Amino acid sequence: MSVYLDANATEILRDEARRAMLDALDPRGNPSSVHGPGRQARRMLEEARDRLAGYWKAGPEQIVFTSGGTEANMLAVHAFGQSDAGPDKVRRLLIGATEHDAIRMASPQAVTLPVHEDGRLCLETLEHALRQNGPALVCVMAANNETGILHPIDAIASVCARYDARLHVDAVQIAGRLPFSLAGLTSLAISGHKAGGIMGAGALVLGAEGHIPPMIRGGGQERGRRGGTQPLPAIASMVAAYEAARQQDWSVIARLRDRIEEAALACGARIAGDRIAPRLPNTTSLILWGVPAQTQLMMLDLAGFAVSTGSACSSGKVSASHVLQAMGLGQAAANAIRVSLPWNTTEAQIEAFIVAYRSMTSRLGSKAA
Ligand code: PLP
Repeated sequence: MSVYLDANATEILRDEARRAMLDALDPRGNPSSVHGPGRQARRMLEEARDRLAGYWKAGPEQIVFTSGGTEANMLAVHAFGQSDAGPDKVRRLLIGATEHDAIRMASPQAVTLPVHEDGRLCLETLEHALRQNGPALVCVMAANNETGILHPIDAIASVCARYDARLHVDAVQIAGRLPFSLAGLTSLAISGHKAGGIMGAGALVLGAEGHIPPMIRGGGQERGRRGGTQPLPAIASMVAAYEAARQQDWSVIARLRDRIEEAALACGARIAGDRIAPRLPNTTSLILWGVPAQTQLMMLDLAGFAVSTGSACSSGKVSASHVLQAMGLGQAAANAIRVSLPWNTTEAQIEAFIVAYRSMTSRLGSKAA
């Protein structure tokens, strides 16, 4: 039986989320239909919306359901592209260098803002870019999916406010794992399967009620902001997952993660962002100099442990991490594996992982030292 340590790619399904999904499978109606079954589905959808809005201290009209985090991020960028921010808007889209592809691919012409060695956005460059570019949309993730490093969102929001810039935050990895607020943001993106819901639902949570032009046109769902029948079971499970995640004591997971790091350091590994930046409680990026990440991944996989290299959604694609490169870690970018602990990780699993990691490094011998 393999031990799953790749929660940032997708979390393990939570019991509450499974139950909510099953309950939401029953109504046969489409939430847009006017007959009884349709109205029942609509009631469940709006109840889920109210609960998610409550979670973010927002109103139900501030929630736009999407298929996941990628779509929510792209919708935020799309909305800016359609806005009245001027004809040269593409130059005014500013994104952090360590963003997920969900943002990097949303607009290839965007201006990339560097991060410091600790992986956190350089505020001076942000301020300089905003001074030069005028009204802008800044897109930054709250927590990095590869390293778990947290960007200083409050400070970034203050800079954005000074220059009247909009701020969209990719909250896919932080939501449910650490307290995080919508206050001061234009919008944030979340994804149900990253919190322990099933795949297929996410949301763009708007900082204030407002019309945003749809990226997917259709039947006028989501107040005309996102066409397409809402995936009720996935939405119900997302909401249950976030509520359950918020109740969890993540310090237990943080201690298990720290155990891994202690053991990895003793084996000659380096940890991205260790002691220099605040990080998510469940994530660590372990660098073994000179050992290709894919070799490590395969050795651990054969030993029964599922970890990942590079970006969360890119399993199967192995390339040097743009995140570690942006942090100035150069060659290490190809030598890092990400271990991200699911919500239900046990001590026994981590002790077994440590044994496997030690055995891997001793087999790799001096190369890893
Ligand atoms: N943003 C971040 C930070 C992510 O880690 C991911 C997925 O790994 C996404 C966005 C995309 O989310 P989804 O898989 O729901 O499209």
